[in-house]
This record gives sequence, C-alpha cells and structure tokens, in this order.
Amino acid sequence: MTFSRLNDFSKVKLGHWPTPLVELQRLGSKLGVQLSIKRDDLTGLALGGNKTRKLEYILGDAVAQGCDTIITAGAAQSNHCRQTAAAAAMLGMKCHLMLGGVAPQCAQGNLLLDELLGAQIHWMGEQRKGEELDRLYRELNLSGSNPYIVPYGGSNELGAMGYVSAVQELALQQAGRAKFDCVIFASSSGGTHAGLTLGNALSNQWGSLVGINIDKLEAGGNLAKYIADLTSSSAIAMGLNQRFSADDIRLNSDYLGDGYGILSHADKEAIAMLANQEGILLDPVYSGRAFAGLIGMIRSGQISRGSRVLFWHTGGAPALFAYAASLSER
Ligand SMILES: *Cc1c(COP(=O)(O)O)cnc(C)c1O
Repeated sequence: MTFSRLNDFSKVKLGHWPTPLVELQRLGSKLGVQLSIKRDDLTGLALGGNKTRKLEYILGDAVAQGCDTIITAGAAQSNHCRQTAAAAAMLGMKCHLMLGGVAPQCAQGNLLLDELLGAQIHWMGEQRKGEELDRLYRELNLSGSNPYIVPYGGSNELGAMGYVSAVQELALQQAGRAKFDCVIFASSSGGTHAGLTLGNALSNQWGSLVGINIDKLEAGGNLAKYIADLTSSSAIAMGLNQRFSADDIRLNSDYLGDGYGILSHADKEAIAMLANQEGILLDPVYSGRAFAGLIGMIRSGQISRGSRVLFWHTGGAPALFAYAASLSER
C-alpha cells in the first residue's frame, strides 16, 4: 500500500501507539448512533493530544538537521505548545514559545505545564499565530544556536504525515470490521484535517470526514481551500498523484458561537455529557466544540440514526483547569 512512502521521512518516537479505539455503547444508544472514539487524548506525551503525531515527523526533521532549539507559537492555552515543549525536553532541546496575550498573575493549565517543561515564554499580545517566528529565529541564530521553526499548530506537510500514519493505524485496528459512515473531529490549523483526508484517500476507512471548525472564519472564509492545498502538497511530499480541491473538504462552521475559546451552552453540554456518561474528558476549546457538533448533526438529521460514527478525540483536557470559571457549576 502507498502508506509505505511514510517510511521515507525521518521520525522520532514521542508517543505510545496505537491509541485506543473504543466503542461507546451507552452514549451511542442514547444519541441513536453506533458511536466509537479514537483516543488521541491518550498519546502519552505530557497529557497527550493530536500534536504528538505531527511532532514525530516535524521534530524528526529537526533532529535530522542537527538543530538544538525549537521555536513555535500559539494561544496562551495552546495544547500544541505544551506538547512541543514536552517533545523538546524529551529530545534534549531548548524550546521557545511565542504565546498570545500577556503574562498572567498565575500560570494555569497548559501554560503551567509549559513552564514545568522548561520552555522559555515570549508574550506576544495580539499575535498568537506565529507572526514573529522568523524574527526570533534570526535572533537565536545570531546568538549561536541552531533553531528550528515548528509552524503554528504544527500544520505543514510533515505534520500532516502524522495523521496519514494515524489512518494507517486505524486501518489495522479496524481490520475485518464494517467501515465508519462518518468521522468527526475538531479542525483548526488544518494539519489534522489534511492528514486524515489524504490517509483516507489511500485506504478508504470511512464514508465522510467532517471537521468541526472551532476558530472564527479566516478572512474570506477559505479554510477549506487552505486545507485542500495542504492535502495536495502533502500528497506531493509523498510522491503521490492525487490532488484535492475545496470540494473534497467538509468543514462545518455552524458551532463557532461567540468565537475561539468562548464556551457556548452546547460546548458545555457536550463536555458534561462525555464526562458523566463515559468518564471521558473533552477540552473547552476544541474537542468539546467538536463533540457539540456531533450531537448537533445527529439532532438535525445531518448524521442519520443508526449510522456508524467515529469521534476522533484530539486531546486538550489540560485546558479545562484554565476554564474553571466558565465550566464550574458554582
Ligand atoms: C490543535 C488542536 C486541534 C486542531 O488540530 P489542527 O491540526 O490544528 O486542525 C484539535 N483539538 C485539539 C485539542 C488541539 O489541540
């Protein structure tokens, strides 16, 4: 199978594989579907999450290039930054994080973990998407280190390989069973969506893939086009002929509510439902909103009753603690 092209890339082992694939019978029958969950919250890298898979390929490249310092960027509660800081620690590298906002009085959630993991934090105000990564790269380079930039969200072709390989992992776990009608997950910087799309083009594990958009629409609202282009360039990186257009990408933007990281009633319902029905923790920014999308799509009939649905859990639970004020009943 064409997955063998994955072996052409340098990779470092950062997680524990495969992550569990589990059926959620009680919650599934309550919602009226055959529900399964892929537990990428349990990748094992400093409380886990989807960035672990991307970083295995991205930092594989950094190691191959002999770099000693990792730079990346994100929101103050970025799961990507926390996993990058942990990966750098594992590999004996320095880590610089350019975070949106200003230094809080007291670090909580992912930010607390960034500090414990030894990352050096730069507060960037409005700029939470890595606008100044190049400047820091030049400064570190001039001061004698050999830095490597991990893009915002780890979403480039190498990061996408992490999710191409995740589909291969799922295919092995699913061997001999009926394929999923539909896969739902949280989509934001696009690398997970691109990798899953390309992986399924190679192996046909499911009928449809729906990313729940969790961030506000980009200028022009063309995230689907961006994801399609990243899927195509990832195919090129693997030496494959397939190309993708925005029509190949399903992105559901009905659950944005008041914007990134602002909890809606539906987000809270989803988090509480998975917690008290199945003992599984979602996060307030990504997976909670994605599961709210799954519930909403069942209720509206976009996902039909009785269908085989896979929820791909992308992690993020450490951020729960930073959102205590919006989540607590009291
Ligand atoms: C980053 C992240 C996502 C989104 O993944 P992208 O590849 O950036 O689209 C989803 N869920 C969690 C918990 C994340 O940290």
